[in-house]
Amino acid sequence: MSTDLDPEQVSGALDMEPEAFRAAAHAVVDVMADYLAGVEAYPVLPPVEPGSLRPRFPAAPPDAPEAIALILADYRTLVEPNATHWQHPGFMAYFATTASGPGILGEMLTAALGQNPMLWRTSPVGTELEGVVVDWLRQALGLPDGFDGLLTDTASTSTLIALAAAREAGGADVAARGLSGRGELGPGLRVYASAEAHSSVERACMTLGLGRIGLRRIPTDEQYRMQVDALEAAIAEDRAAGLWPIAVVATAGTTSSTSVDPVSAIAEVAERAGLWLHVDAAYAGAVALLPDRRGPFAGWERADSLVVNPHKWLYTPLDASLLLSRRMEAIRSAFSLVPEYLRTLDRIGPVRDYNEYQPQLGRRFRALKLWFLIRWFGLDGLRRRISRHLELAAGFAEMVDADPDWERLAPVPFSTVCFRWRPARLAGRTDELSVRAFLDDRNAEIIDAVNRSGDVFLSHTRLADRFTIRLSVGNLRTEARHVDRAWDLLRQEARRLDGRPDG
Ligand code: PLP
Repeated sequence: MSTDLDPEQVSGALDMEPEAFRAAAHAVVDVMADYLAGVEAYPVLPPVEPGSLRPRFPAAPPDAPEAIALILADYRTLVEPNATHWQHPGFMAYFATTASGPGILGEMLTAALGQNPMLWRTSPVGTELEGVVVDWLRQALGLPDGFDGLLTDTASTSTLIALAAAREAGGADVAARGLSGRGELGPGLRVYASAEAHSSVERACMTLGLGRIGLRRIPTDEQYRMQVDALEAAIAEDRAAGLWPIAVVATAGTTSSTSVDPVSAIAEVAERAGLWLHVDAAYAGAVALLPDRRGPFAGWERADSLVVNPHKWLYTPLDASLLLSRRMEAIRSAFSLVPEYLRTLDRIGPVRDYNEYQPQLGRRFRALKLWFLIRWFGLDGLRRRISRHLELAAGFAEMVDADPDWERLAPVPFSTVCFRWRPARLAGRTDELSVRAFLDDRNAEIIDAVNRSGDVFLSHTRLADRFTIRLSVGNLRTEARHVDRAWDLLRQEARRLDGRPDG
């Protein structure tokens, strides 16, 4: 392709001519396929300093048209190499994920079709295929057919929607009457979640007018699971103080350690107290595709709502979050507002207009990529891949357990391992302040050195106030050799920093 202007830019055609689009799209697909084939050649983290990229892009937009070949060439030199490579097999930070081939193909067609399934009328297939895919996923997760739902952008939005519904279902009628000057609500509404629950729960409280103070964090046990007695006591105490409890959020697969709250016992408490139960299984929910691994999710079928993110561990390109609920009417009453221009006038009968179930009006046709990938992998293919990731993480945990200079800091119910370097010589002294500080610093140095290798990318957290390294397997390209490489690098860096000879 030449870098001269494309013909239609000269002829004045309003959009790319179909044939020029075809040629350019083929070129783009080549770039995509080359990237996916060669992503391992990149360092996972691009070697760039903050602020070094912006000056490489023109400060002002171009007045004159530019040819697609030129734009693509710049993409290859300026964009692709400076991305953090989530698609890299060595990406094991946060919750590793993959934008899989079939998911990408679905995204490409989504873009071309330009759908906005805000109303049934504005996208019949976008609306109805969403219903199909939501129900496929419900079945795949082993949930009863009383659950219905929708696809949102992120778990943060799904949880926001769920808690807005809980606020309505709790009888406070906030959607209509707001919160200000409502003396009858007492000192305020309350949501309960464990100390380990994701920050999105707190943000939802901030956004919904409950404030951060509206979230009461319940302490966890030594395995980072919510203490149910403490939950029950907190609800009773708050009620006695005149607060208005509305919801409990249980997490199956917390962000730091992937611990699982005792969902059944929490469901009992929530039911007794008449509170909405929302289960956050954004990461780990994918494991429920495996019928013999559903143990950790027991009780989630009693939830009023739950969230699982296909864009975390179901190989779906960002974004796609599945919000399921047994109380869709409560969600609708939290968000439904139909101005005249959105009324469908052609008497098509009762339809679902998904915009009534979310804060935004416009929405993406996310069902298409999920339809592509569920069909292409099949549930068996997805199960096989998730099982593989569980095995790789279990294998890594075994290596950590077998090495006296390392210690595992949490159980591994899924594909994420929490651990740290703690040399055998310090084993009995980890409570001493100076040892704790030393271990924190040294582990931070280790992870930094390992990530600088470019071969792998790991992230960290704090568990029981200890600096904790996390390794999360969720990338389709990750093989045993990548996990082994991470382990070699970790041990190598620990020895080097400890001033010990390698070997
Ligand atoms: N819930 C849990 C348990 C998570 O781990 C995360 C992110 O990692 C979220 C919610 C937020 O996910 P999202 O980025 O889709 O909002």
